[in-house]
Amino acid sequence: MLKTAVVNARGAARIRAGHPWIFRQDVVSGPPTDAGSGGPSLVAVKDGRGKPLAVATWAATARLALRVVATGDGAPESDDELLPLVNRRLDAALARRGGLGLDRDAYRVVHGESDGLPGLFVDRYADAAVMQTTSVAMNAARALLAGLLAERLGVRLVVARDDGSTRDFEGLPRFAGVVAGGGSTEVVYRLGPNRLAADLMTDGKTGGFLDQADNHAAVAALAPRGARALDAFTYHGGFALALARRGGAVLATDESPEAVARTAANAHRNELPNLEVRQANAFDLLRVLESERALFDVVVLDPPALAKRGGSAANLTAADRGYKELILRGARLTRAGGLLVACSCSGRVTRAHWDELCAEAVADSGRTAQIIARRGASADHPELLGVPETGHLKTWILRVM
Ligand code: SAH
Repeated sequence: MLKTAVVNARGAARIRAGHPWIFRQDVVSGPPTDAGSGGPSLVAVKDGRGKPLAVATWAATARLALRVVATGDGAPESDDELLPLVNRRLDAALARRGGLGLDRDAYRVVHGESDGLPGLFVDRYADAAVMQTTSVAMNAARALLAGLLAERLGVRLVVARDDGSTRDFEGLPRFAGVVAGGGSTEVVYRLGPNRLAADLMTDGKTGGFLDQADNHAAVAALAPRGARALDAFTYHGGFALALARRGGAVLATDESPEAVARTAANAHRNELPNLEVRQANAFDLLRVLESERALFDVVVLDPPALAKRGGSAANLTAADRGYKELILRGARLTRAGGLLVACSCSGRVTRAHWDELCAEAVADSGRTAQIIARRGASADHPELLGVPETGHLKTWILRVM
């Protein structure tokens, strides 16, 4: 038997509308403890009249109290059914990934709520996997989940990267470590025609920005042969390597020396001598290039989230200014008819707002632009319809006139 959590009318309406998240203020009562403090992982969610609504993972103190895992028939009936549920959902998620026709051996296997596994994210990199948990229940099950993933994915190594800032919002301690298997945490994985190296334990995100992988290929496909390109926030060279395959001179820059070293090694690994890698602060670099009247056929701007989750209004204003400055200078550096790829991975910047920022910045640059594509995260990071929190990436491909 599951323990019970009762939600108010607003919580009940949210669940009935299909939203997987219920916040503390909509919880009327629930168990005093959760999986992090010897209590249950799963609870039966009921409305004020005792009518069952769903089964959800439970957090006794976090702001996000309930994450729905199932409604109706087949929902777990006891607290030890979390692992079997993960197992079933993992099967389904893997089958869906298999149908995407991805031309790479690194991809997101489980995208949390979108795959019916709230609080769990799993990325595969060739023969290794990285897991992230963002809920008390999934966090408490980490060791069991790691074993399950190692077996089901057939990987030699599972790393947990529970060291991101989202953990703080859930009141979970930060942790990074090998949780199953062993051997080097350094992997070489393939994105389309290119091979990239990453250390799954120490490099950014889970090792790579797999959410941009489809966009690397899409941008390269639109670039003319011999296109001269600039990738100003290159990280490990995702866009730059794809663009360099078009044969033109590509300049990739990043302010991080580790990222620069990785990109240089990746250029070498893929025998792309036309890819030049330099350490630079993008804001400074764009200004210098503009003063030199440099022009590129493709300019890619993929900065880190300038607007921070939970940030102040002042942070949002500063972020807008930063984004606009980048796009304005990027537009000036784009040859007439060339492509400007403007990205924002900040969840606080909506698609509509990104449209506005891009429009204002391009207008300020004295140019106009066509929208060639408004892209989001790769197909292996599907956004759940009605839950914009599950998709935050905006990758606008603009043709600057
Ligand atoms: N485009 C990459 C991901 C970029 S992540 C891909 O598709 O894989 C953002 C990158 O910006 C990080 O590598 C970070 O080191 C770099 N960065 C952050 N601030 C910067 C700045 N002011 N100038 C240049 N690079 C910066």
